Amino acid sequence: MDCIFCKIVAGEFGTEFVAENQHAVAFRDINPLAKVHILVVPRNHSSNIAELEDVEELSELFSLIRSVAADFTDGQFRLQFNSGEKEGQTVFHTHAHVLSGRAV
Ligand code: 5GP
Ligand code: ZN
Repeated sequence: MDCIFCKIVAGEFGTEFVAENQHAVAFRDINPLAKVHILVVPRNHSSNIAELEDVEELSELFSLIRSVAADFTDGQFRLQFNSGEKEGQTVFHTHAHVLSGRAV
C-alpha cells in the first residue's frame, strides 16, 4: 500500500518522532497551522478514526495524545480528526492533530 504515514511510521523518511509508544508515534506537521501542530498516528494502518476499532490501539493513541498535550502545550489545545475527504482529510491513515497557540 502506498501510504505516506505508514512510510513515516516505518522510518523511511527519517522523520523525527517527538513522542512514541507501543502503538502510536507523534511528529510535527510539515505545514504547521499553529505554534504547536503535532500529528499523533497509530502505527497500524486504518483509514480514519471511525475505522479504528481495536480498543488497545485506541487507548494507546489517546494516551500518546494526552502525553503530547502535556509535554508540548500549556494544557490548552485543540484536538482534530479530519475523517473523510469532504471533511478535509488528505492523508488516509488515521491521525490526530494536536494544535495549540496562535496560528502561524
Ligand atoms: P489531514 O488534512 O489529512 O487531516 O492532515 C494531513 C496532515 O499531514 C496535513 O496537515 C499535512 O501538512 C501533513 N503532512 C502531509 N505529508 C506530511 C509529511 O510527509 N510529513 C509531515 N510531517 N506531515 C505531513
Ligand atoms: Zn498507512
